[in-house]
Amino acid sequence: MRGKPDAVIVGSGPNGLAAAVTLSAAGLNVLVIEGASAIGGGCRTEELTLPGFRHDVCSAGHPLALASPFFRRFDLAARGVRFAYPEVEFANPLDGGRAAIVTRSLAETAARLNADRRAYQWLVGPVATHNDEIIQALLMPLRRPPAHPFVLARYGLRAVLPASVAVQVWHTPEARAILAGAAAHAMMPLTSVPTAGIGLMLTGLAHAVGWPVVAGGSARITDAMADAVIAAGGSIETGRWVNSLSELPPAAAVLLDISPRALDRLAGDRLPGRYRAALRRYRYGPGVCKVDFALSGPVPWTNEDCRRAVSLHLGGSYEQTAAAEAEVAAGKHPEQPYVLVMQPSIVDPSRAPAGRQTLWTYCHVPAGSDVDMTDRIEAQIERFAPGFRDLILARSVRTAAEEEAQNPNYVGGDIAVGVQSVRQTVFRPTVSWNPYRTPVRGLYLCSSATPPIPGVHGRCGELAALSALRDRFGIREVPDISPDHMRPASTTEPAPSGP
Ligand SMILES: Cc1cc2nc3c(=O)[nH]c(=O)nc-3n(C[C@H](O)[C@H](O)[C@H](O)COP(=O)(O)OP(=O)(O)OC[C@H]3O[C@@H](n4cnc5c(N)ncnc54)[C@H](O)[C@@H]3O)c2cc1C
Repeated sequence: MRGKPDAVIVGSGPNGLAAAVTLSAAGLNVLVIEGASAIGGGCRTEELTLPGFRHDVCSAGHPLALASPFFRRFDLAARGVRFAYPEVEFANPLDGGRAAIVTRSLAETAARLNADRRAYQWLVGPVATHNDEIIQALLMPLRRPPAHPFVLARYGLRAVLPASVAVQVWHTPEARAILAGAAAHAMMPLTSVPTAGIGLMLTGLAHAVGWPVVAGGSARITDAMADAVIAAGGSIETGRWVNSLSELPPAAAVLLDISPRALDRLAGDRLPGRYRAALRRYRYGPGVCKVDFALSGPVPWTNEDCRRAVSLHLGGSYEQTAAAEAEVAAGKHPEQPYVLVMQPSIVDPSRAPAGRQTLWTYCHVPAGSDVDMTDRIEAQIERFAPGFRDLILARSVRTAAEEEAQNPNYVGGDIAVGVQSVRQTVFRPTVSWNPYRTPVRGLYLCSSATPPIPGVHGRCGELAALSALRDRFGIREVPDISPDHMRPASTTEPAPSGP
C-alpha cells in the first residue's frame, strides 16, 4: 500500500469490495480489513466437505450480479468470471412426480401451465419483459426519480401485494408453487407485503437474465473485485476483527460492511443517542440452517425436468410452503420445511471430482436457532428424489447460530441482514435522506443493511462509496471501474480463489 490510507473499509463482502473498487477507481488509497481468514463474506467458495468438493459457502445463484449496473460496468466477463447457465432456471417438484418448471422462455413456461397459461403471462409477463428497467430502478438511489415511472408503477401495483393475494389469479398447483417458491426467498410469511413483489422480481429475473451460478464458484466474483483493488494499489488484510472504531488507522473516510447492531457497538458513544436508538429498533428476520453435501452422483429427482435445474424450491404445494414459512415466523421449526436446493455440478463440473456432485441447501428457521435441520432437509429431498440419501459421501452443517458466529452480519442467522418489509426496504437502516452516511463525520455504512436490497449486486457498497467521494473528497463524477481503467483488459484468466 502507498502510505497512509485515504479510506478504510471494514469487511470484504461484495458490498465492502464494491466500495473498495469504487474508491480505488477514483484514485484513492484504500485499505480493506476483514475479520475472517478469507475474503468474500457471503460470496465465497470452499472445500467444506471433502477434498476436491468446492461449495459456495453462502450465495450461489447470481441473477442479481448479472443484472447489476455495478457489475455490468465492472465487466466480470472481461475479468475472467464466467456464468454457467442451466436449461431450467428453477423448478418446484410436487408429489406424484409432477413439477413446476421455469425456463428462460416466458412463453414455454406459460404453455406448460395449461389452464394458467394466460394468467401467468398476465402477472409475470410485464415484469419479465421490462425486467431491465425494473431492476435498474430497484438498484438506483431511492432519492432519484425512476427513469421509467410507468413500468415501475405497473410492477409496483403487483409488488405491493402479499403472495397470498397475487396467487389467487392462478389455479393450477404448478403455477401456485412457482409463486410460493420464489416469494418464500423473502423469509416472511406469504401473507406479508411485499412477498409477491420479491417472488415476481425473482421470476422476472429468471426469464430476463437467468439464474446462473459462477463457473468455479461464487468466490470468482469477489476474487476479481479484490484483484482490481490490489492492482489499483489498495491492500486487503484478513484475520483482523475490528471491535471498535478506535482500532482503525486514521483516514478521511471509513466505510463499514457490517450490520446496524455492529455499527452501534463499534461506534458506541460517538453516535448520538437518537441514531443509536434507531439502530436498535432495526428488525432482523428469521435465520437459515445450511447443509452442504458431497454426493457420489446426481440427485435422482423423480421428475426428469428437475434434473436440468440448478435451483429448486422444495416446499411442495403453495399451501405447504405457506404453512412452513408461517411456522418459522411463529418461532417453530417446520417438520416439512421449505428447502432451497442448488446443484451447481450439473452445469459446472469443476465443483467436484469426476462423476461426483456438490449439493447446496438451506431452510428457514427461527432467529438464532441452534437446531440442526439436516434430517428434515434430507427428508424433503428424499420426498422428491427417493434414493438421495444413498449418494451422500459427506455433509457440512451450519445452524443459524453458527451462521452468525462465522459472520456477525447475519444476526441470528438472518442472511438478508434485516426484515424486508416495505418500510425497512425503503428506510434501511434508519429513516434518513442518505442512508449510507452516519452522524459521525466520514463514517459510512455500506453493507446490505442499506438500500437497495440484499444480494450480490454491489450497489450498497458502490452507493455508499459515491456518498463518501462527494462528502469527503469533493469528487462528484462516478469513477470508471471498467477493466480499461482499473486493470488491463487483456486479463482473461480467472483470479485465484482465497485471499
Ligand atoms: C447461506 C446464504 C445464501 C445466500 N444465497 C444468495 C444467493 O444465492 N444469491 C445472492 O445474490 N445472495 C445470496 N445471499 C446473500 C448475499 O450473500 C449477501 O446479501 C451479500 O453477501 C451481502 O454482502 P455484504 O458485503 O453486505 O456482506 P457480507 O457478504 O456478509 O460481508 C461482510 C463481511 O464483513 C466482515 N465483517 C463483519 N464484521 C466485521 C468486523 N467487525 N471486523 C472485520 N470484518 C468484519 C465479515 O466477515 C464478512 O466477510 C446468501 C447469503 C447466505 C448467508
